[in-house]
Amino acid sequence: MDNLLFNDSFINGEFYSTEKHFSVDDPATQQSIMMVSDIDDDGVHKAINAAHGAFIKLKATNATTRSNVLMRWFELVMQHKQTLAELMTKEQGKPLKEALGEVEYGAGFIKWFAEQAKRSYGDVIPATDDNHRLTSFKQPIGVVAGITPWNFPIAMVTRKVAPAYAAGCSFVLKPSEHTPLCALALAYLADQAGFEKGAFNVLLSENAKMVGELLTESELVRKFTFTGSTGVGKQLLAQCAPTIKRTSMELGGNAPFIIFDNADLDEAVTGLMGAKFRNGGQTCVAANRIFVQRSVLDQVVDKLAKKVTALKVGNGLDDATDIGPLIYPKAKQKVQELVADAKAKGAVQIGDNVELGGNYQAPLILNGVTAEMDIYHQEVFGPVVSIIVFDEEPEVLALANDVPYGLAAYFYSQDLKQIYRVSEALEYGMVGINEGLISNPVAPFGGVKQSGLGREGGHQGLDEYLEEKYVCMKI
Ligand code: ADP
Repeated sequence: MDNLLFNDSFINGEFYSTEKHFSVDDPATQQSIMMVSDIDDDGVHKAINAAHGAFIKLKATNATTRSNVLMRWFELVMQHKQTLAELMTKEQGKPLKEALGEVEYGAGFIKWFAEQAKRSYGDVIPATDDNHRLTSFKQPIGVVAGITPWNFPIAMVTRKVAPAYAAGCSFVLKPSEHTPLCALALAYLADQAGFEKGAFNVLLSENAKMVGELLTESELVRKFTFTGSTGVGKQLLAQCAPTIKRTSMELGGNAPFIIFDNADLDEAVTGLMGAKFRNGGQTCVAANRIFVQRSVLDQVVDKLAKKVTALKVGNGLDDATDIGPLIYPKAKQKVQELVADAKAKGAVQIGDNVELGGNYQAPLILNGVTAEMDIYHQEVFGPVVSIIVFDEEPEVLALANDVPYGLAAYFYSQDLKQIYRVSEALEYGMVGINEGLISNPVAPFGGVKQSGLGREGGHQGLDEYLEEKYVCMKI
């Protein structure tokens, strides 16, 4: 196995150690994988300054050069796919087959933005008189700071860093304290691929608040990008206000998954299994409220119960595992509390809520969920399917939209007119129609309402790191 295991922050192309350390734990065994150094104030300032130095150099590079560097980074990540996937399963817990999928998906953003680097076109604007020429073109914003979560330790990093680099921006990243090892491996491979020193810095810290404050208050940081919970996103957005930073926020969701009575029920249940159980339910686009039309309710529940009870919970490194551990004890406690609240208010549990020990949570179905229950309003972020019955299309659309979030929504229908009506009526940034897995580097990922600002992936993902400059010339 090649060595991509590092334990210090990465600043200006070098590892940077501090005296204070914290433990990165394996969620499967709850044992420490290793101690890593915890960045101090001085390190944060060094990283911002290094990124600023790199930006001065980067903005003078041409798009083809940056594209070639990104393509080498992509190739290195793919060469080390197995090692990266094993590292991810160790620190994050997801089954190895899913980790391998995430490395490919994450690498896909690097490749996509290596291609898009060459396509940041400007405009020639028809003049309004004879003696002016009007044009506009795109330039990199400057130093970018980003904070990423633990549920996708590679993809959440590459879909920010790759477009930033493609645009000509440098980056200071604070990955989740639970999954910093994949981020460090990525930075090391980016350095090997030819990233300029300081173009991609990684700061490890258990004190996210301190690092977040230093990054957001810096005048040198011109863009801030965050993926995480809505509550933290709101705080960070407020912290970015005094320096008027450009921001992208990819925040929480509460995805509806609607099964209409004309749907292909087998496909709907298969799609739901993917949308619900990927990463043990720990995704911001996970189906959270499953609305089933009354006449097909019993059939859907029967089909679902057969699949859910067959899921195997275990260590992600075991080939047979479908669901790994939840990330930490608090996550499991939250799932247990939501299930208990729903049952106390009348939901019927299908599956055995057996105590599996450690961070392991048995998959469950809750039938008869209503808006009175906490699980209806909060992301469960665990392997629990909440089923809500409905009668009519207008009713389910009102229920689906009646939340402050608007990230992903899914529905299953075979009625073409209904497909158009419903996809237009759903107040969500992304809609899956007869499909439960929608994420793709070539498409714009993002939410409306309190699910966030901006888009990642697609051609839109590059614009998040570019400013448009208008040039008016008198001739
Ligand atoms: P989760 O509950 O899924 O971990 P969070 O929003 O708490 O979601 O975490 C996402 C990222 O935000 C992590 O990298 C975490 O360290 C960071 N984070 C949490 N709180 C703060 C904060 N107050 N300021 C800056 N970053 C934070």
